[in-house]
Amino acid sequence: MIELPFRQVHLDFHTSPLIPDVGVDFDPEEFAKTLKDAYVNSITVFAKCHHGMSYYPTKVGMVHPSLKRDLLGEMVEACHREGIRVCAYISVVWDEYSASKHADWLQVNKDGTLAGRPPFGNRGWRFLCMNSPYVDYVAEQTEEVLKSYDVDGVFFDIVMQTFPGCVCNHCMDSMKKLGLNPEDDNDLYRHSLIVSRNFMDRMDKLVKSLNSDASIFYNSRLRLESDDEFGMRPEADYFTHFEIESLPSGGWGYNHFPLFVRYYQTLDKDLLGMTGRFHKSWADFGGFKNNPALEYECFTMLSLGAKCSVGDQLHPRGKLDKTVYNLIGSVYKKVAEREEWCEDAKPLSDIGVLISSSFFNDWRTDSDEGAMRILSEFHYQFSFIDSREDLSKYKLIITPDRVNMDEVLAEKLRKYLNGGGKLITSYKSGLAGDKFILDDLGVEYLGDSDYCPDYFRVLSPADKEIEPAEYVMYERGTKVQPIDGTQILAETYQPYFNRTWEHFSSHAQTPPDKKTPYPAAVRNDNVIYISYPIFRAYILNGNLVYKKLVRNCIDLLLDNPLTIDNAPSTARITVTSQHYNGKDRHIVHILHYIPERRCKSIDVIEDVIPICNINLKVRVDGSPSRCYLVPEKKEVNFVYNNGYVEFTVPEVNGYQMVVIE
Ligand SMILES: [Zn+2]
Repeated sequence: MIELPFRQVHLDFHTSPLIPDVGVDFDPEEFAKTLKDAYVNSITVFAKCHHGMSYYPTKVGMVHPSLKRDLLGEMVEACHREGIRVCAYISVVWDEYSASKHADWLQVNKDGTLAGRPPFGNRGWRFLCMNSPYVDYVAEQTEEVLKSYDVDGVFFDIVMQTFPGCVCNHCMDSMKKLGLNPEDDNDLYRHSLIVSRNFMDRMDKLVKSLNSDASIFYNSRLRLESDDEFGMRPEADYFTHFEIESLPSGGWGYNHFPLFVRYYQTLDKDLLGMTGRFHKSWADFGGFKNNPALEYECFTMLSLGAKCSVGDQLHPRGKLDKTVYNLIGSVYKKVAEREEWCEDAKPLSDIGVLISSSFFNDWRTDSDEGAMRILSEFHYQFSFIDSREDLSKYKLIITPDRVNMDEVLAEKLRKYLNGGGKLITSYKSGLAGDKFILDDLGVEYLGDSDYCPDYFRVLSPADKEIEPAEYVMYERGTKVQPIDGTQILAETYQPYFNRTWEHFSSHAQTPPDKKTPYPAAVRNDNVIYISYPIFRAYILNGNLVYKKLVRNCIDLLLDNPLTIDNAPSTARITVTSQHYNGKDRHIVHILHYIPERRCKSIDVIEDVIPICNINLKVRVDGSPSRCYLVPEKKEVNFVYNNGYVEFTVPEVNGYQMVVIE
C-alpha cells in the first residue's frame, strides 16, 4: 500500500494560450522554499492542463506558446531537492487544444449535442472521448512525462464520460460490438464504465511498466454507489490511493467530504481529502479562504483517517502567492504537530450504514446525507459500507430509506441478524416487488401511504426527549401492517384530506384528524423498521424530532456505544485506533467549527467558538495507563468504569485530540 505524506498541495495551472508571459517570474528555489516554509511535503504539479497546454518541451503535445523554460522539470527538481514528493498532473477528458483539432474525438450527449462547453459558452470545457484515438495521445504524453521526469506519481484528472454515456461514432460502434443498447440509459452508463475502466487499465499497465513505485490516481471517479457492478469495487485496484476532491465552498458543500470519507475509509487504501484555499471554488484568484475554515476542513480529514491536500492555482507568471502560503502554512504547521497520532490510525465504528445512493436511486445521496448528519450530530461512530463489507465488524447496521437488496445481501443480513446483529431499516429498503426481502421487519407491506404530509406520534420506549404530540412528516411513507407480536414505537395520524385544488385548508398541510392502524415505527426483536424515508426527510427539512426518533431507535438496539458525551450537536467527535508500542491506543478527535450561510452562495466559517467542560466516556478494553491532550501532551485525569474511560476536556478551541493509551 502506498503511504502518502500528510501535507499536500494540488497546484492547478490551467493557463490560456493567450496569456503572454507564462513562467517568467518562476524561480525554482523560491518556489520550493515557499512550499517548504508552508510545511508542504507533497505536491501535484502540471504536465498538461485543461487548455491542452504542456509545461515542458513535449514532442507529443503542445507546449504553451509563451513558455520559455521547462517548468515541469524545474519544479520536480527543486521540490525533490527540498524533500517534497511530486506527482505529475495530466488532464484527460478536458483538453481544449485537442478538442479544437479533432472534432471526431469529442464526446456526444444522447440528445446529439456535444458534451461540455457549447460553442459560444464561456464556462466549462469540451469533453474528449476516452473511447476515441485521443487515448493514444494521452498515453504518449504520459509515457513522455514518466520517461523524462523522476516524478513520484501521476494524477489523471477528469476521467469520466458524459452522463449517462457518450454516443459518438466510436462509442456507438463499441456498444454495438458489446451487445449494448444505446437507447437504454443503463446500458449507456454501463458502457461509460467499460470505457473508463479500459482507460484506467491501459494507463495502469503503462505507468507501472515505467515506474512501478508511482502512485496513480484517477480523479472525477469517486462516487457512492450501492450497486456492485456500477460501484467502486471493480475499479478500486486501479487506484493506489484515494484523493477525495471536496471543496465545501466550491459546490460540494460541507456534507460531501464527511459522507464520502466514511465510505472510502473502509476500502483499505491510503486516503487524502482535497479542499481548496479559495474563498469559493477552483481558480478563484484573489479569493482566500478564512483560516478557521481551512483548519476545520484539514482537521476533519485527520479526524476521519485521511491526510490533507489543499488546492491552489499558480499565477501564470509562476510565482506562488505569499498570502496563500501563509494561510496554508498556518494550518499545515498544526497538522504537522498532530501527525504522530494520525499515522496509520484507523477510524473506529459501531454502526455500518449500507449505502443507499445509486445510479438507480433518483434520490441520489439524500438518504445517505441525512444519515450522515443525524449520526454525526449525535456523535455516533459509523462508516458507510457497501454490500461486500464484512457486516460482523459492526454492532448495528442501518439501511436508510431505499437500499437495494439482492438475495446475496439479504442472506448476508439474515446471517448477521441470526448471529445477534442489530438492524434499523426505513421506508423501502429491501423492498422486492410488493414485499420486503427480509422477513424480520415485523410488518407486512401494503403500499404507499395514502396521505402526505401525514403525522406521527412517538410512543414509549422510543420517546426519550420527544414531547407527546402529532408531528408532521412531509415525505410520503409506506403503509405497513404490523404482524402479531410486533412492538409499536410510533403511530401515524392521517389528516382530514390530502391537499388538492378540490379540497384544501389554510396555508399548508391539512391538520391531523385521526390515528391510523399503520405504524410509523416498529420493533421486532433485533430489528427496527421506520415507515418514513426518515433520513431523507431530515436532510430535506431538518425537523429535530426526525433526528431524535432515529437516535432513540439506535439507543434501543446499540449497547455500549464507543463514545458517550455532553458536547453540543455542532461538535464532531470521532475515535481512531493506532498501533503503538505493540498495543493499540485510541485517539479521540473533538472538532467545533460552525459553517454558517452568511451570503447567498456559500457557507462561511469565520470564528473559532470554544466549547468547555466536555465530559467524555470512551469504551476501551481494560483500564489505560494514560490519558492526555495532544499535541500539548498534557495529562488528563480519568477514571475507568464498566469498560469506559471517563474524563473531562476543559476546553476545545476548534480541534482537540485526546490520546488514551
Ligand atoms: Zn464516445
